Amino acid sequence: MHKGINIQNISDYKINLLDLNRKEIELFLASLGAKKFVTEQLMKWIYNYNCSNFDLMSNLKKDMRKKISEKSYVFASDFTEEKVSYDGTIKWITSIDKQKIETIYIPEKKRATLCVSSQIGCSLKCTFCATGQQGFNRNLKVSEIISQIWQANKKLKEKNNNIITNIVFMGMGEPLLNLNNVISAIKIILDKNGFGLSKRRITLSTSGIVPALDKLSKKIDVSLAISLHAPNDFIRNSIMPINKKYNIQSFLNSVSQYLKGSHANRGGVTVEYVMLSGINDSNKNAEELANILKKIPSKINLIPWNFFKNANFVCSSNNRINIFANILRKKGFNTTIRKNRGQDINAACGQLTGEIINRIKN
Ligand code: SF4
Repeated sequence: MHKGINIQNISDYKINLLDLNRKEIELFLASLGAKKFVTEQLMKWIYNYNCSNFDLMSNLKKDMRKKISEKSYVFASDFTEEKVSYDGTIKWITSIDKQKIETIYIPEKKRATLCVSSQIGCSLKCTFCATGQQGFNRNLKVSEIISQIWQANKKLKEKNNNIITNIVFMGMGEPLLNLNNVISAIKIILDKNGFGLSKRRITLSTSGIVPALDKLSKKIDVSLAISLHAPNDFIRNSIMPINKKYNIQSFLNSVSQYLKGSHANRGGVTVEYVMLSGINDSNKNAEELANILKKIPSKINLIPWNFFKNANFVCSSNNRINIFANILRKKGFNTTIRKNRGQDINAACGQLTGEIINRIKN
């Protein structure tokens, strides 16, 4: 059970049911004397019908509804702002404790991806990332992660838009630094009475918190994306300070271990590599990258760097990116170049910047 929710001790306060995964809802309902099937009924109302009003949950007995409402509630923080890009990408902003987090919806022909945030800001300070430059406030609660999906589903249903087919933990924050809450949220996303997505359709992106990745492999199987962005420790140390703590070798060893026990990653891990002119984009860098990944089944996704204010980088030219990609392809790597989506509304990769008021120094 994640921190802060103690089912044994629910008499003093009300629980937000969006903080609980199936097991925890079962425990909560058992404490009210409900049968096991009530969990399924309740979750269907909350997640399939986006219903937060117990009075409308007509197939639950009235006295049970009353008991549930005395001890709990369903609250999903609403989006406070919405920006729609010319390419259909939508950026939603949620205000939490006067701070802002962002959630991005990216519709494509055959899929629609929701990119969710797991923290308010980020403590890892990657130099090419707008979120990393703005500081860190706190981890999001399970309900705050789940609210983003719940509200997005509701809005998309209202707009008769595509439903969400994929969820990626690539928004603000490093998900493995909020491990327990992220795992609990993933359980709700996977649950057939939750959002009901398969593990191959949930992607967790990490910049390499090795002990947490080792822990994750024992807890849950999802698609993994790794923010590598450099072919050697020298470059990675200079753009991703976390590398000084967990270097490339230790990161890749941990990734290999994760892949061994994973069904969700049968096609290999996704390697994210931002293209920074003159920093990590030479032919030699492509050779080095191929070399360090040769023992790891992987798909490489090259990401043209997106500008943000006061940044000291330049994106590699299209020509350079294509040459880099072709070197990797010749070495046998499935290599794609990411299309920039939502650039006009600052919703593209690395551009997310909610407002952080109370930064935590680290
Ligand atoms: S790239 Fe990811 S881990 Fe690095 S600062 Fe940005 S949000 Fe944090």
